[in-house]
Amino acid sequence: MKLTICHLYPDLLDLYGDRGNIIALAARCRWRGIEPVIQQASLGEDLNFMGMDILFIGGGSDREQGLLVQDLMRREKELRRAIENGLVVLCICGGYQMLGKYYQMSNGERIDGLGILDVWTIAGERRLIGNVVVDLSEKILGDKPCKFKTLVGFENHSGKTHLGEKASPLGNVLFGHGNNGEDSGEGVRYLNVFGTYLHGPLLPKNPHFADLLLELAAKRRGLDNSLRELDDHLEELAHTAMVQRLLKQA
Ligand code: GLN
Repeated sequence: MKLTICHLYPDLLDLYGDRGNIIALAARCRWRGIEPVIQQASLGEDLNFMGMDILFIGGGSDREQGLLVQDLMRREKELRRAIENGLVVLCICGGYQMLGKYYQMSNGERIDGLGILDVWTIAGERRLIGNVVVDLSEKILGDKPCKFKTLVGFENHSGKTHLGEKASPLGNVLFGHGNNGEDSGEGVRYLNVFGTYLHGPLLPKNPHFADLLLELAAKRRGLDNSLRELDDHLEELAHTAMVQRLLKQA
């Protein structure tokens, strides 16, 4: 069994070690005897979104987002088609913003997004920075038996993202700011697209979320998506340590 994982714009959108999410997904595949096929693509390089199983887009500064917007816009039609077909996407911070309608930066300039996510982002007066704990919505994990119902990570963004009616947050913030520091929501889910402000990288300390992405990708391929349990005691220790440390402060 193979799963193809693509990192889009690894040279431009890879803030705070976001590429660690690719490393975590690949490791969790290998530990189960699944062969991860890792692809990368950046400006001007061809990609087959329908032929991949998971697309990852990391975070970046306003400057990098401006550099890639034209290239991303050229990919909109094929990416939208793959997403409507159930492509699993994890997009972090800047990558998340770019799949929305637009990102209006602190200088007032607006970077158009793909409009695939019913979200829009407007830079606030201050950056939203710090550790985050999210109480995952039941809509995200469904009836999947999970040791954790939380996500931990950290955020550093000026953009404040607001969700429209077609978008649902990943959950509510128990500690930190989340999407905008106002409505207590963090992240978004639309079909199999998961957007979040959580860097870290996100997945090593949230193995349950990593496995959710892998299960959805396997299911879309009609493969057995009941992944073998892994020894996640170190990941669980890291996750629990952050939740306990931060919620004592809440
Ligand atoms: N440049 C965007 C912002 O400041 C995204 C930042 C990021 O990806 N961490 O909101």
